[in-house]
Amino acid sequence: MRVMIASVMHEANSFAGNFVPFAHFARRGVLHGADIPPAYAGTRTEMAAFMATGADQGWEIVPALVARGTPSGPIDAAGFARIIAMLAEATRAALPVDGVLLALHGAFSSEAEDDGDGAFAATVRAIVGPDVPISITLDPHGNVSDRLAASVNAISAYRTHPHTDHFEAGQRAAGTLARALNGEIAPVVHLARAPLLRGFDACRTTPPDGPMQRAMAQARAMEAADPGVIEVSVQAGYSSADVFQAGASVAVTGNRHDARFDALAAQMVRLAWDERHNETVKMLTAAEAFAEARAVPPGHGPIVIADFGDAPNAGGHGDTTALLALILAAKPPKALVAAIADPSAAEAAQSAGVGGQISITLGGHVAPAQGGGPIPVVARVVSLADGIYVHEGPYTTGVTGDLGASALLDCGGVMVIVTTLARSIFDLAQIRIFGIQPENFDLIAIKVMDAFRAGFAPIMRTAICGETGGTTSRFHVALTYTKLRRPIWPLDPDDVVARHAGYLP
Ligand SMILES: [Zn+2]
Repeated sequence: MRVMIASVMHEANSFAGNFVPFAHFARRGVLHGADIPPAYAGTRTEMAAFMATGADQGWEIVPALVARGTPSGPIDAAGFARIIAMLAEATRAALPVDGVLLALHGAFSSEAEDDGDGAFAATVRAIVGPDVPISITLDPHGNVSDRLAASVNAISAYRTHPHTDHFEAGQRAAGTLARALNGEIAPVVHLARAPLLRGFDACRTTPPDGPMQRAMAQARAMEAADPGVIEVSVQAGYSSADVFQAGASVAVTGNRHDARFDALAAQMVRLAWDERHNETVKMLTAAEAFAEARAVPPGHGPIVIADFGDAPNAGGHGDTTALLALILAAKPPKALVAAIADPSAAEAAQSAGVGGQISITLGGHVAPAQGGGPIPVVARVVSLADGIYVHEGPYTTGVTGDLGASALLDCGGVMVIVTTLARSIFDLAQIRIFGIQPENFDLIAIKVMDAFRAGFAPIMRTAICGETGGTTSRFHVALTYTKLRRPIWPLDPDDVVARHAGYLP
């Protein structure tokens, strides 16, 4: 059996205020053919799982394409056309194939196309034909369109957030493909979309138990109760995308089409609706978060303040300064701000060299009105780094990441990491490359959503979640959606949404 494997991934924030060019993807490495296996061998990724299952099954694996960009504004029209063309060419070159495995994200939109993932799956389907099974993985923060569901045979989203199970999701997708290739099953996706812009508590699986753990238990029970249910895949959705399909969904992969699978998907969606008010994270303003951090009794390990409102891992600019300003003014002992994306500050530090002193206006350059503008700072350069690191934590373990040319600055006693690229700090290796140990700090301020909990859990005393009002803010009322399907919670009145969904007469 010849099985094509590919991955195209991006999470596009419609509210970032810009489109990114193809170079955004090329920076992280667009890989073709034989260059793919060595890049993923030994990693905890979907691609590694596809290859491992292929070896077990005796398949001939045909690596086609990997194109991944870190979350940002949507890719521009020319860049999207180029990625579609590359995927089509790689798929044609792979023919003939017996099966296809794709690792997608689910929140890929572009200037030209609101449903990037649906377009990728439909492109591959059109080339391989209707009878070749296609099994995919998704990020549970994906927004699943009808076209995506109809273009593939099976969907396996990650089951953890922070996402520490890329490999396991890849194993499930490949396992389903193996059963299809053996003639044991004929998988078909049954999709139901919830009337929710966000659901399942953003799919958090860190303590305390919440809606996602209950949904996972329900999904596993559905799979156990009916051998025709191949997999129940839960997607919380990605609310920073202004696209029709944004929001929570459930995909039931069943053996052949059957209305009972649609009913199970609808039942899970109803669970999301009933749980919509249950959120396990309390979101504070920058001032509230900082005050709460200062009130934590002395103890061991850093207090972490995570700014969800300017999170590069969800497409934020990573340079807002509302929280930075509070920390610089109060100068708490052993404080680290990691990181502020500021290419000009990073360049000034690189020019001055270690020990040099620089006068800069730090951060807040991209969208000064959102989350705080630039702050004048006199800083000493403590260390420099090229920004390359290898993830040490359980989240994408072994994968190489890049912050761009970066520096650690001493800003009047407060340590601040400045980076060229906007990147969330969620892995301790990203801090260690500056010659410092995160364990030794009392307060660490980062710009990231829940992903940090995996890497920081072993060292942190407590986590406090804040919102500085950047472009990944969840205060949706301030955002203007024009393409999103309506009515939808929480933007429209509960009774209007419930009636439209058939939950009220
Ligand atoms: Zn995600």
